[in-house]
Amino acid sequence: MSEGAAKKEEKPRKFQAIRGTRDLLPPETALWNRVEQAAHEVFATFGFGEIRPPIFEATELFARSVGSETDIVSKEMYTFVDRSEKLEPQPVIGSMDVFLQRVKQLYKSGEIPHDEIGLELVEKQWQKVDDLLKGASSIESGAIEIYELIMLFEALRLGGDVSLRPEATASVCRAYIEHGMQSLPAPVKLYYMGPMFRRERPQKGRYRQFYQIGAEVLGGSDAPAIDAEVIEMVMMFFDRLELQGVQLDINSIGDRNCRPKYIELLRAELLKVKDKLGPDSQRRIETNPLRVLDSKLESEQGIIAKLPRIADHLCEECAAHYAAVRHQLEMRGVIYRENWRLVRGLDYYMRTTFEITAQGLGSQNAVCGGGRYDGLVELLGGPPTKGIGFAIGEDRLILSLQESGKGAVAIGRDVYIAWMGERAHATAIRAAKDLRKAGFSVELPPVEQKFGKALGQADKLGAKYALILGDNEVSEGLWTLKTLADGSQTKFTEPDLLEYLRKQKALSS
Ligand code: ATP
Ligand code: MG
Repeated sequence: MSEGAAKKEEKPRKFQAIRGTRDLLPPETALWNRVEQAAHEVFATFGFGEIRPPIFEATELFARSVGSETDIVSKEMYTFVDRSEKLEPQPVIGSMDVFLQRVKQLYKSGEIPHDEIGLELVEKQWQKVDDLLKGASSIESGAIEIYELIMLFEALRLGGDVSLRPEATASVCRAYIEHGMQSLPAPVKLYYMGPMFRRERPQKGRYRQFYQIGAEVLGGSDAPAIDAEVIEMVMMFFDRLELQGVQLDINSIGDRNCRPKYIELLRAELLKVKDKLGPDSQRRIETNPLRVLDSKLESEQGIIAKLPRIADHLCEECAAHYAAVRHQLEMRGVIYRENWRLVRGLDYYMRTTFEITAQGLGSQNAVCGGGRYDGLVELLGGPPTKGIGFAIGEDRLILSLQESGKGAVAIGRDVYIAWMGERAHATAIRAAKDLRKAGFSVELPPVEQKFGKALGQADKLGAKYALILGDNEVSEGLWTLKTLADGSQTKFTEPDLLEYLRKQKALSS
């Protein structure tokens, strides 16, 4: 039986979007577009240009930058081995010799490069495997070894371990290095928007595919005015959207000089109260004590309040930088709250960190997180570079706008064309084209409708006007425009009609 025939006999099956993912649908997508458009416009006024990095990258990139001890990298990433198409399907032990022949062929043809690793893998390792295969009796015992070798082939030479991006700062820094952007006029200001992926427990405002709008400033300077301007930009963006209940929290988490000492102090204090803490915090004493400060557990709040505060342990440079950032924010009229417990979940942050919350989101109320990450570019093999950036959770931003009634978008059509008769149809098609060229949204029914039904449809679609085109209108050259809100009707010549609609649109916007 051919594959096609087999398919036909399969029972129909309904599919659903994968847990933690969702379809964004109209009319809500109009709000998403409005938000994204505002971001393009506001960020452009600050001189930012858009970057669109790929949505998957080498796993190693995230492990290095976000940090392999973080929840994101250790538990939440979607990681897979990107196999070579040339080596599918995944080898089974029984067909090992076929697979190995294929490897040899690919090496011969240059598909597997003739570099040091290729040589090692194909010449030496292959020989080992070949020996095993020849002594038929030892295949069983050698199977595991062979399998491991094959995984090595695949991982090292043929794609390797990749992950869907859980965030985009790492990609932006990778791109900065890859394209030699340090030779551009500094600082380099980039923004991005798009989907991110984290395997978290889905709940309100938390999804496995979610969207971020973010920006990064990279270059040689860590002037506090840069921190302040980046924050000012987010606040202007939120202001433009009329986001409600916006609260900016800031903190400084020190740098390589002072943070390690503070963390040791914190760890020592935490160890003293270890048995009063929950299991998550107990674990974090070892892995990431700063994150304990982030705990929302009611029973831990009293304990945390008594812990040493980083503000009292900043080195002189960090303390001065932090004071200057606050001053710069004040100069810009940005209202903030200092929050000594604000730490970020990603390893690469230092000094300035900030978080913005908004109303209507329950416990997932953070709509933006950001901070400074000097040294990240260097960690990824680039030149010494200062960096600061933020990421806005677009899903939560949209949710908050909707909850507070600021998420309304104009839906419906400007004009519904109610045409009757073949001659009128031709005129209607031309009218639709002209109106659309002039930027109006037009619904042109594909088949003739009775007048009453047409008006009913126009109403259902939320049209502002019905343009009535029948035999009379066409022969007179006077078209009837019905304003659906009040039922009034006026006759226009075609140019007058366009002029009238333009004026009305200008008045209402
Ligand atoms: P949270 O503490 O809420 O998990 P986070 O510290 O993991 O946030 P960041 O990595 O700083 O978040 O990402 C910046 C923003 O992206 C967050 O403030 C939030 O608005 C959004 N965000 C993060 N994870 C998700 C998710 N799974 N679903 C929806 N939005 C998210
Ligand atoms: Mg998180």
